[in-house]
Amino acid sequence: MAATLHVLRPQTPPLAGFLRLGHTGHRKLADLHAAGRFPFKRIVVDAAHFGEQRDLVKTLKAAGCEIVLDPNAAEMATAGRYGSSSLQKLAWSNPDRPWEPSDFGRHRNHDLARAVALFAIEAGVHAVLAPTHLIEAGATAWRAVDLRLCEALRHELDQAGGREIEIDYQLITTAAVLKDAKLRDGLAADIADLPIANVWLRVSGFGATATGAGTRTFVESVRPLHVMERALIVDMAGGFAGLATMAHGAVAGISHGVGQKESFKASDWNKPPSGGGGAGARTYVPELDRYFKEDQMAAIYAARGRSRFSCNDGSCCPLGAEDMFENAHGHFIRQRHLQIEDMSGTPETRRSEQFLLKHLDPAIRSARFGAKLKIEDQKVADAVNAAKVRMIRLRDALADLDSKGQPATRSPATIFRGGTKGISAVLGR
Ligand SMILES: [Zn+2]
Repeated sequence: MAATLHVLRPQTPPLAGFLRLGHTGHRKLADLHAAGRFPFKRIVVDAAHFGEQRDLVKTLKAAGCEIVLDPNAAEMATAGRYGSSSLQKLAWSNPDRPWEPSDFGRHRNHDLARAVALFAIEAGVHAVLAPTHLIEAGATAWRAVDLRLCEALRHELDQAGGREIEIDYQLITTAAVLKDAKLRDGLAADIADLPIANVWLRVSGFGATATGAGTRTFVESVRPLHVMERALIVDMAGGFAGLATMAHGAVAGISHGVGQKESFKASDWNKPPSGGGGAGARTYVPELDRYFKEDQMAAIYAARGRSRFSCNDGSCCPLGAEDMFENAHGHFIRQRHLQIEDMSGTPETRRSEQFLLKHLDPAIRSARFGAKLKIEDQKVADAVNAAKVRMIRLRDALADLDSKGQPATRSPATIFRGGTKGISAVLGR
């Protein structure tokens, strides 16, 4: 029993789940909140959609949620997005063409930072993401501009009465940049000195559908960013891939929407915006780590997959499969919340093991079961099989990473900024 004396100091810093309200579906989220079925405490709202979502944001803030504003500056510098009507409503947009780095020379255009600051103050948010832009290997012209804009935003917030509003830096980049040690470390050195709280990572090519190899590479190439000593939040990353980055200590939080903004591809900015996840009922199936449409699930159920692949969580979907589709939003956010909470409640040195044994392995067992079902619709059968193969590769890559031992560094935890004024004062924040 001597082993029981060998107890490590409990180390369970909380993990954070940020929910992006996105561009559709906020009415469903409002209904869920009214029904007491909205467990997320951290919210990201796009400036471009704040108008429609103002009431929901106000309600969530009053309920103690932390509110983070995304000024959508990066999109304004892209040919495919700058002209969208929702962006054009914002005071810092350019009606004529996408913004270019040269528009923000040292002595030009400080209006953007001021406009974002005034918007953030008026919106009453707790934090605002710095107005940054895509940094690609060989295309880093925004780098110096973004650092200046971040400092200018701090100045403007302080001047205009928004001293208590924090800035989180968002590093919008690619996996190639993260793998480029010189460029990555240079960016980290730049960002570390800024007047910011957390650092968000939005990485093109990473997200809910990342491969095992891609997820492992992401975890390994993010670790050197821990020198900044800032909490890292991986943005637009859902699914097991997103959860894995937290479980392995690379980041302290994840951020995504409900069936949207779960992955990020910079090239999508060159295309017209898609309708988004609100249309057509799709529901999240944790055992397969993906969404399915109702008729696709019907094909799985018809092949005797019902008990395995319908929601068995009575307080989430009391009627099982029917509820999963009736209330796909509620089902998704509850299941994701439970996944994050389980990891958050596990001491950090055991999180990767917990993730592999309690989340990924049971899902793989179910996926294997699913792959053996005689599903008549071949496309659905292929999708189930592909989900199985993907999760096995994810597990193999992460188990190998785990076998190398505990990481030398971990992301610090992010500090909760919501709550009521009274509580905040007591906590000294
Ligand atoms: Zn459910």
